[in-house]
Amino acid sequence: MSDLGWYDGRVSEVEPAVVAMLLAPWASLLAFTFGALWGSFANVVIWRVPRGESVVRPGSRCPACAAPIAWYDNLPIASYVALRGRCRRCKARFSLRYMVVEVAGGVLSLALYMNHVVQPLIAGGAPNVAGWLLWLVFGLALVIVTYTDLDLWIIPSEVVLPVCALGIGAAALSPATLGVPVIEAAAAAAASYALLAGLRWLYLRLRGIEALGLGDAKLLAMIGAFCGAQGAIWAVAAGAIQGLVVAVPMLLVGRTVAHSSLEEVHGADPLLGEEDPEAGVMGARVPFGPFLALAALEFLLFRGAIVEVIGGIAGE
Ligand SMILES: [Zn+2]
Repeated sequence: MSDLGWYDGRVSEVEPAVVAMLLAPWASLLAFTFGALWGSFANVVIWRVPRGESVVRPGSRCPACAAPIAWYDNLPIASYVALRGRCRRCKARFSLRYMVVEVAGGVLSLALYMNHVVQPLIAGGAPNVAGWLLWLVFGLALVIVTYTDLDLWIIPSEVVLPVCALGIGAAALSPATLGVPVIEAAAAAAASYALLAGLRWLYLRLRGIEALGLGDAKLLAMIGAFCGAQGAIWAVAAGAIQGLVVAVPMLLVGRTVAHSSLEEVHGADPLLGEEDPEAGVMGARVPFGPFLALAALEFLLFRGAIVEVIGGIAGE
C-alpha cells in the first residue's frame, strides 16, 4: 500500500480503513471505556492483593451487607453515578475512590491512545498499539501502588515485579515500543533497585532504622524498566521534591500523608524506627511510593518536555 502516502509524501503502511477506524471518535470513547474497565479491576487489586486474596474469586460484594454486586451495578463510573455511590440493597456508602480510580484508568487510556495511536497516524506514521497497552499497564500499576502504599505501607511485589519484567521483555522484542533499548531498560532497573536498596542499607547501618522499604526499590526498578535512565532519575528527583512540597504543608496543618500508621499495619518493629513528635515535620514518616508513582506518571504523560528539562540541566 506504499502508493497511499499523504502528508508531504510521508508514507503510512497502515490500511486506510484501519486508519479511519482508529481515528474515529468512537474509537477514542472505546479507549476511555477500556481504561475505565481496567481501572475497575485496579480497585480490586488495590483492596485484595496486599491482603493476600485472589483477584478473581469471589466476585465483588458489598463491604457492609456482603450482598454480591450484580454486573449491571458494577459497570465502571456509570453504576457509581446511577446508584449515587451506594449499595443497591443496604444503601451503605461506597468510597468515592472507586470512581476516582475508574476515571483515572479511562483518562490514562485515552491520553495514551492519543499519544501513541492518534498522533502518529495524523503525522502519517504507524500507530503504536502495543505501546499504548503497555504504558496503560504501567500507569495502572502506578495507580495501584499509590493507594496500597497510602493505605497499608505496602508496595506489592506481585504487581511491580511482573510489570518490571514486562517492560524489559517489551524492550527486548522491540526498543521502539517503549522508546528504550533493552540494555538501558535492564540497567536502569538494576541501578534503580541498587540505589534505593543501598540507601536503605546505609540508614539501617548508620541509624538502625528502615527509612525506605524494599518496595520502594522494586517500584523504582519497574520505573527504570519502562522509562529508562532519564525516567528513573526524574522519578527520584521530582518524587523527593514533590514529596516535600506536599507532605510538609500537610504535616504542618496536622494531617498525615498515609491513611494508617506504620505500626498499625506492620507491628512495633524496632527496625521501622519511631516517629518523633518533638522533631515535628522532620520526625514524621511519609510513604515514598506515591511520590515516585506521581513523578513516573508525569514522565509517562509529558516525556518530551521532561527529557528537555533533564537535558538542559545536564548540558550546563
Ligand atoms: Zn450493602
